[in-house]
Amino acid sequence: MIRVEKLNKSFGDLHVLKDIDLEVNESDVVVLIGASGSGKSTLLRCMNFLEIKNSGNVIIEGETIDPKNNDLNKVRQRVGMVFQHFNLFPHKSVLDNVIEAPLTVKKLKRADAVKEGKELLAKVGLADKADVYPNKLSGGQKQRVAIARSLAMKPDIMLFDEPTSALDPELVGEVLSTMKSLAKEGMTMVVVTHEMGFAREVGDWVVYMHDGRIVEKGHPNDIFNEPKEQRTQDFLSSIL
Ligand code: ATP
Ligand code: MG
Repeated sequence: MIRVEKLNKSFGDLHVLKDIDLEVNESDVVVLIGASGSGKSTLLRCMNFLEIKNSGNVIIEGETIDPKNNDLNKVRQRVGMVFQHFNLFPHKSVLDNVIEAPLTVKKLKRADAVKEGKELLAKVGLADKADVYPNKLSGGQKQRVAIARSLAMKPDIMLFDEPTSALDPELVGEVLSTMKSLAKEGMTMVVVTHEMGFAREVGDWVVYMHDGRIVEKGHPNDIFNEPKEQRTQDFLSSIL
């Protein structure tokens, strides 16, 4: 469970997040939509402390995280993040990419890390690519490795920031289906995406952001079929 309360974030004079309240319950999949610049990425980054809020609270599994007192590296282990660009280590094999953090941060024994790493690669459909280097993979495969790498830290929550936006259209489906199985297994997820099919099918909630505020939150059917707010309607008719 992750909860954000009255969260505000500014960059200099630019007030980017305005009194954001959002609760993501265990096993919920929340899909975050909104125009470019509305603050979606900043909200995700505040949720795993890649950005530090100016005010408000971020509560993870019941614990209010204080950047001054909590070890933020530990917090980030509990909140995994997958980005548009996968940033794999090019000089490491796929398996070594996945087990890097478990070895260095969690200090797992290599044999244990390898066993878990291989299981994760199987889970994302890449069991046969363990020894391959990233430059031999398609974009979709790279993104699935990035997901496995993030899962290797056994996060409580996974954040996805436009994980398929950099992919060729024919590679989008394989990444979405990996995310869908993760959701089915009960992973708590917040997903920024333009893939409205995914939002409808996999999302428990859709949250529409506009200009740094959450304008509307609802079940996918309600948001897509009868949005309450004019701004949500306008946004949806601009993209659908
Ligand atoms: P997109 O759909 O284009 O990814 P977004 O909804 O993710 O947009 P953010 O990236 O969160 O939007 O940006 C929100 C606003 O904050 C934008 O005006 C952006 O220019 C600004 N911003 C984001 N990061 C920074 C930063 N590090 N320094 C200054 N301004 C920033
Ligand atoms: Mg963004």
